[in-house]
Amino acid sequence: MVEIKSDAALAAMREAGRVVADALAAVREAAAVGVGLTELDEVARGVLKAAGATSPFLGYRPSFAPVPFPAVICASVNDAIVHGIPNGYRLRDGDLVSIDCGAILDGWAGDAAVSFTVGTARPEDTALIDANRRALEAGIAAAVVGNRTGDIAHAIGGVIRAGRYGTPEGFGGHGIGRSMHEDPHVSNTGRPGRGYPLRPGLVLAIEPMLTAGGRDDYDTDPDGWTLRTTDGSRASHLEHTVAITEDGPRILTLR
Ligand code: MG
Ligand code: MG
Repeated sequence: MVEIKSDAALAAMREAGRVVADALAAVREAAAVGVGLTELDEVARGVLKAAGATSPFLGYRPSFAPVPFPAVICASVNDAIVHGIPNGYRLRDGDLVSIDCGAILDGWAGDAAVSFTVGTARPEDTALIDANRRALEAGIAAAVVGNRTGDIAHAIGGVIRAGRYGTPEGFGGHGIGRSMHEDPHVSNTGRPGRGYPLRPGLVLAIEPMLTAGGRDDYDTDPDGWTLRTTDGSRASHLEHTVAITEDGPRILTLR
């Protein structure tokens, strides 16, 4: 079901989004060579707790998952695309990390993701993250009244294909509100003019995922969660929660 939010709901979602942004900033600040992924999860837990927020990730178990998600962040390193479970891995020099985080505050959800490198960055990783930033910006710019979800998909996909990058088929963004995942689905590739019409009060999580090798397929780890590229190439995931308003797209997951 697609839910249109009131101005009061958008204001509440802005506060939830701020908690997500704060958590991601704290995780990024803590990330360094030698730091473990579970330590990054602890950092995010601390920010959520201090804000009085809960995690929509922790204990989340969609139909495909063999076990409930055990953390408040997804930590996807190098060839992991999304949904990486924070484990005993310690970050190494040159790693490319994508961190996804959600929060529920006063009954409203926020969802966002960042990508960054640790230590000495490889130029191709910097280029990948930069292309993803442009894809996200293009998607957000298309999130305007009168457009459809397909216009967002087309904008994101245009940047992905222009860079000869890939994106995992079937994965993308989503409506968001009182729960983290609502309709409609927001694909990362597609044809303009198709899909759900964008109206004021519709809130979408827009989240491009780019694979450096250009492939759209993926493997799933034995943990049932972590998606990886099939060619071992690296990936980047970025996300913002964005409200469609009469005044244009409003990013709710900024600090
Ligand atoms: Mg997310
Ligand atoms: Mg999301």
